[in-house]
Amino acid sequence: MSTEVALHDPLSARIESFVRDFVRPVSSAMARGAGPRPKDVVGAAGEAGLAGILTAPDLGGAGGTHRDFVSFIEAVAREDASTAVILDVHLSVGTEPIIVFGDDDQKRRYLSRLARGEWLAGFALTEPAGGSDAAALQTRALRDGDEYVVSGAKTFITGAGDADVYIVMARTGEGRDGISAFIVESRWPGVSAGQPFTKLGLHGSWTGEVVFDSVRVPAANRLGDEGKGFRVAMAALDSGRVGISAQAVGIAQGALDVTVARARERRAAGREVDEMHLADMEAWTAASRALTWHAASMVDAGQNVTRDASVAKLYATDACVSVAHAAVEMCAPDSALDDHPAAVRLRDAKACQIYEGTNQVQRMVIARRLLRVE
Ligand SMILES: Cc1cc2nc3c(=O)[nH]c(=O)nc-3n(C[C@H](O)[C@H](O)[C@H](O)COP(=O)(O)OP(=O)(O)OC[C@H]3O[C@@H](n4cnc5c(N)ncnc54)[C@H](O)[C@@H]3O)c2cc1C
Repeated sequence: MSTEVALHDPLSARIESFVRDFVRPVSSAMARGAGPRPKDVVGAAGEAGLAGILTAPDLGGAGGTHRDFVSFIEAVAREDASTAVILDVHLSVGTEPIIVFGDDDQKRRYLSRLARGEWLAGFALTEPAGGSDAAALQTRALRDGDEYVVSGAKTFITGAGDADVYIVMARTGEGRDGISAFIVESRWPGVSAGQPFTKLGLHGSWTGEVVFDSVRVPAANRLGDEGKGFRVAMAALDSGRVGISAQAVGIAQGALDVTVARARERRAAGREVDEMHLADMEAWTAASRALTWHAASMVDAGQNVTRDASVAKLYATDACVSVAHAAVEMCAPDSALDDHPAAVRLRDAKACQIYEGTNQVQRMVIARRLLRVE
């Protein structure tokens, strides 16, 4: 697929061909952890004109909306959740903070390479001592002339070891107002990554530790003002959670597809089908999609999406686990096999309830809005 041809197509056609020509053929290898590496996934998306879906066309992006973004992530996740999370992190929490908070120089230096899929982006917030309480992070960035010296460890980072650039949250002072965001290149001295973890699911997506050992980061790579990094992180997660909701919708739809095909075969053979379960799966998936689209439309309209992103993420990720679980039950006994598409989806679904804020954290965000506490 050449970029020149792809860029003349409308986004929906580009998404369809990318899913058909790239995602579907590698999906079973991805589920075994034997598919293309994350950088190659983003490279292929770049060739299809989709690695910068939210980036402006003059910076090499597709200039799409958040509704385009969620359509893309859902369509990919319907086939393969590992590929979806690689693309989701690259496009949302990896790239979007530069789109929203970057200055002209940072946009020029990073966005076109990311949008063309030449570079893979990651987001480094979670630390070994905890991720839910982001304000308690311990990675330090000490100012030294025109540079900061960044030291600390991040863990469970998507793309660790393959990403070219990370959005890193580090402490430049005390408390929530003492956090700053930085664009850190993985090739800089002092940046290292461990081997990817062996996970329950999402075997095609690399997740691991990234260590910053006295990394000298130019002050020109600070994203936004010093002490405003918590705001950068929360804004990235607001929008990122909409992407994770879309991933969950795609996983649920993929599990439903497999179950419907199996149910039709059973019915054709004159056997019983659990219609109640099937109807619930459809309703949960449709409701998740509606919440996700609603949240994406709010981002496009420039509205505050904190509550609606948490509602969508909570509902859609809980629903995708329930749908995948029902798919495993309805496709039994074959679904008890390791590589059955329902089994793969159940394993992949679980992480959606954990990353970009666990669902306990989403409940706290929603409840605190109702009670008007921060
Ligand atoms: C596959 C995968 C990919 C990931 N990718 C990234 C990434 O790219 N970048 C990144 O920065 N992070 C990433 N993460 C990390 C993820 O965001 C964190 O795991 C998550 O935010 C939870 O943080 P924690 O693991 O430190 O758990 P903790 O914060 O220690 O929480 C552990 C448990 O306690 C619960 N808990 C915590 N506080 C409360 C409370 N106040 N009330 C009730 N319950 C509470 C949590 O909900 C959770 O169930 C990834 C995680 C996974 C599994």
